[in-house]
Amino acid sequence: MRAKSILTRTKLPGIDYTLNPYFGCGHRCVYCYVPHFLKLPYPPRPEPKENAVELLRREVLRKRPGHVLISSATDPYQPLERRWMLTQKILKIFATVKIWRITILTKSDLVLRDIEILKSIPKIEVGLTITTDREDIRRIFEPFASPISNRINALKVLKSEGIRTYAFIAPFLPMNPRRLAELIEPHVDYVLIDVMHYRRSVSKILVKYGFDFILSERWQEEVIDVLRDVFGDKLAVGSAVER
Ligand code: SF4
Repeated sequence: MRAKSILTRTKLPGIDYTLNPYFGCGHRCVYCYVPHFLKLPYPPRPEPKENAVELLRREVLRKRPGHVLISSATDPYQPLERRWMLTQKILKIFATVKIWRITILTKSDLVLRDIEILKSIPKIEVGLTITTDREDIRRIFEPFASPISNRINALKVLKSEGIRTYAFIAPFLPMNPRRLAELIEPHVDYVLIDVMHYRRSVSKILVKYGFDFILSERWQEEVIDVLRDVFGDKLAVGSAVER
């Protein structure tokens, strides 16, 4: 598909633009809000925005430089990125103009492929969304995203290469929060958490697997207490972009 523009003005706190190189997402997380939000059938067929790179070349010259979130309505390192490399080409543009501030958010360790480009962008941070420490849970809820251990390793490698990193723990899936936090803590500069208000279709899946206990406010508060205990000052509550 061809897009009309690629840097989209947003009211997300702390962010000036969102940039989504793809339409839809091949990670197919069962709780994904994007098809619901865009009124698409689930799962939507993900497509590249084939003209994303040429649009960005024009728009970085025309639009006021600011803080860009890559991405808000897709995953910039979803499976299509292996073939289309739109995210990589986009980052190369930001590496040349340098004044834009970039925040990446992904569930894929494919981000490590671009580590040299990331290092050449002065104002950049990379976040990995990690929702549980359990692979069996990840396989149910995020079937085509990277395994949890790969995501934690991605944070470790990025941080060791001098890139600012964060983890986004949301939505809370069944987990041992202390174990998860202790795995993540050494490899991040900060952590964001957000409590998801599950749609009815997701609640049904939680009931089916006997995980509906995570819907209780008490369980969520207990998780937050543990995360606060481990992360201390590194922890912020809010959306992925509120800071
Ligand atoms: S990675 Fe994000 S955009 Fe992609 S399916 Fe999962 S929740 Fe949706």
